[in-house]
Amino acid sequence: MKIKFNCPACDYDRMEEILSDVTQASVIVEVEPDCAEYGEHSTDGGVIDRFQCVGCGWPILDDLNSEITTYEELYKWLESNDMLIEE
Ligand SMILES: [Zn+2]
Repeated sequence: MKIKFNCPACDYDRMEEILSDVTQASVIVEVEPDCAEYGEHSTDGGVIDRFQCVGCGWPILDDLNSEITTYEELYKWLESNDMLIEE
């Protein structure tokens, strides 16, 4: 299902998944003495830490005020807040 997220805190319309314990590989395109510019990224492993608003970082919480960390809980939360779009 597509999402029509609407942040309860700031009205922003995009949400993101935050992963921890990720191994990330990045293609290096250019390098300078103090930084690098990257091409493609890929990630391996990782655990969902939370889902949050892209705009303000507001975390999506369950009924017990704990951060939601599974797609099943996220789906239910979006469904109960009328943020899923039937295709
Ligand atoms: Zn927000």
